Amino acid sequence: MTTFRLTRVLIAILCCTSLLAATSARAEQVVVYSARIEQLIKPMFDAFTRETGIEVKFVTDKEGALLARLKAEGRNTPADMLITSDAGNLWEAAREGLLRPVESEVLESNIPAHLRDPGKQWFGLSVRARTLVYNTQKVKPDELSTYEALADPRWKGRLCLRTSKKVYNQSLVAVMIDELGEAKTEQIVKGWVANLATDPLSDDTRALEFVAAGKCDVTVVNTYYYGRLMEKTPSLPLAIFWPNQAGSGVHVNISGAGITRHAHAAPAAIRLLEFLSSEQAQNLFADVNMEYPANPRVASAPAVAAWGGFKQNPINLVRAGELQTEAVKLMDRAGYR
Ligand code: FE
Repeated sequence: MTTFRLTRVLIAILCCTSLLAATSARAEQVVVYSARIEQLIKPMFDAFTRETGIEVKFVTDKEGALLARLKAEGRNTPADMLITSDAGNLWEAAREGLLRPVESEVLESNIPAHLRDPGKQWFGLSVRARTLVYNTQKVKPDELSTYEALADPRWKGRLCLRTSKKVYNQSLVAVMIDELGEAKTEQIVKGWVANLATDPLSDDTRALEFVAAGKCDVTVVNTYYYGRLMEKTPSLPLAIFWPNQAGSGVHVNISGAGITRHAHAAPAAIRLLEFLSSEQAQNLFADVNMEYPANPRVASAPAVAAWGGFKQNPINLVRAGELQTEAVKLMDRAGYR
């Protein structure tokens, strides 16, 4: 072997060794794009790093921006995992080919079937219940029953709703379309609009404040907004009502995650996803935002459990994604802005 060839071989070996080193160093880090804000994810990531030594880097932004970024970056994306705060956007990410299916017995055993994608591309990690909240000085709980009943003329001028632009309401209406059909759902949504005390509001907290101030009597919100507000001002005349308990149950959505199609550190990212579904992390994941654990073996935080048990609508959330466009059109036709 000539010196020249030997040098080339040596260079090749050195080069490969450093490449390998770079690859394995990289494998010890997971990059997450998250629509959940830092304070709602960092405690779990820190716990994961303590347990596994795998570092978690994350970027937080709005769902739309993160999906656009994943799409634009294609195979060059640094992201291994996408976290969102609703099923609709995970469904959209899967449909756009931005996620990959994950085979995991751990995930299938930890997360109930209706809270994960049948195509295995995303998994719910916390449950968010969208329920009724009423003014205790103006409404007796036995006057309430279902989401549909809020369309009854007896609620004229007494209902507050968040804008139909929010995916939470789009999912609720999508699930109603699946269950009741389009014509019936449209009739109900028109009834809601006819009963509004005020134009649709920008967010759930505002809707709760309007009910507390007596500007309307009842609204539909995610329970954690109620929890946060009552923690700040326990004297507010507000209470939760669980609707549709004799029928399909309370509409729930999820905060959840999927592994990106072009993940560089897929095995480590799957390990993180499994960790997030575990009994150890589920408390943290749900409790930081007063949500419900997706893993049924984990109990809710005491403050959340105090709101009482309820029956969840067991419909698979993939239906909410599939019917979302129809829901948006229907709400538009019904005049729900
Ligand atoms: Fe929210």
